[in-house]
Amino acid sequence: MASSCDAIVIGAGPAGLATAAALEARGLNAAILEKSGAVGAVWRRHYDRLHLHTDRARSGLPGLPIPKACGRYPSRADVVAYLEAYAAKFALKPVFNAPVRAVRRDGRAWRAEAGENSQTAPIVVVATGWADYPHAPAWPGMETFGGEILHSSVYRNPAPFAEKRVLVIGYGNSGAEIALDLAEAGIDVALAVRSPINVVPRELFGVPILVFPIAQQWLPPRLADIINAPLLRFAIGRIEKFGLKRSPKGPLQAIEEDGRVPLIDVGTLDAIRDGRIRLRGDVTSFERDSVVFRQSPPERFGAVILATGFRPDLRTLLPDAKGVLNESGAPLVSGKATAERGLFFCGAIPSAIGQFRQIGVEAIRIAEAAHSLRAA
Ligand SMILES: Cc1cc2nc3c(=O)[nH]c(=O)nc-3n(C[C@H](O)[C@H](O)[C@H](O)COP(=O)(O)OP(=O)(O)OC[C@H]3O[C@@H](n4cnc5c(N)ncnc54)[C@H](O)[C@@H]3O)c2cc1C
Repeated sequence: MASSCDAIVIGAGPAGLATAAALEARGLNAAILEKSGAVGAVWRRHYDRLHLHTDRARSGLPGLPIPKACGRYPSRADVVAYLEAYAAKFALKPVFNAPVRAVRRDGRAWRAEAGENSQTAPIVVVATGWADYPHAPAWPGMETFGGEILHSSVYRNPAPFAEKRVLVIGYGNSGAEIALDLAEAGIDVALAVRSPINVVPRELFGVPILVFPIAQQWLPPRLADIINAPLLRFAIGRIEKFGLKRSPKGPLQAIEEDGRVPLIDVGTLDAIRDGRIRLRGDVTSFERDSVVFRQSPPERFGAVILATGFRPDLRTLLPDAKGVLNESGAPLVSGKATAERGLFFCGAIPSAIGQFRQIGVEAIRIAEAAHSLRAA
């Protein structure tokens, strides 16, 4: 038998907590269903050295800034402590160990199926993030490769890789930082990069990089990219001289049109420049103890880390929802009304203003829309 409330929020990460707090502030009673045993579960298992790439002042959720004591770029542990403090401040009490298996229509309401923790409500907010959907491409020969293959989401620190030659595949934010982590531990590491990329510094002339897209969010992304290009070239230099390809679209246009966030460089380019990280091109296949590249000879590696991103697919979670997901199961819109009355997503689409900040904006918008729906 499902209990009922005004709104169901699925997930107690930043998006679920911010949305529940915003709903409660508008007088809507929200039940948070979280499959793990604590808030911020994904931040508890990110790699050890992770710090926010976006600055503290622009990454807090609505109603509670991240404390100054965390410094400009809070650590992973700081983020976990902040999310705990956020839940405490707004008296949010998620139901833990309550995985939602499916969300189904129940008349004009939604039913979140979570066994004895099932809930029914006219509003449901899916804030389940991307972490459950690691994307791992398949290359020929992978199954007989003798070394270890793991996704970046299970990497913690360099210790298990001592004495191994490691290949990191993918030059996104995780791949770049994991390669740097390995290089700084003295491990022989190569980074395979296939696609053209955008690289931006974490700060420009001492100003955190997020300041720029936030100030320019009313400009067409293409125009903002044209304005920023000379500054970025000055700060980053010519990445082509290392053999990297610059994306034909600027950072803001690439986020807007393709959902591809730029790489915020925290030192990886310097490590490439001084040879501590060796760049390789596209991977074509695996052999027993080596990896084959398109443009260079095969090389032996003891471990391969797939920093190949995430591809959320919510089709199983939302079997009844029509017109809200694309052909691969990712939400079409986030932080606003969907084609299904009462169904919302929070934090589901990458944003130029930083994902934490975007989550805050969306949480408030969702709560306002939910409040109006109740009044209608
Ligand atoms: C390595 C890394 C670094 C990042 N750094 C930054 C940064 O510096 N700045 C920034 O702005 N953004 C950053 N992001 C992006 C983004 O802000 C974070 O991923 C953030 O945690 C997203 O919050 P979320 O609540 O949407 O998802 P998550 O944090 O993934 O939380 C989702 C929650 O939903 C739960 N859940 C999932 N499925 C179910 C289910 N079926 N039933 C019940 N519960 C469920 C999960 O257990 C989890 O607790 C980073 C992302 C990554 C991967």
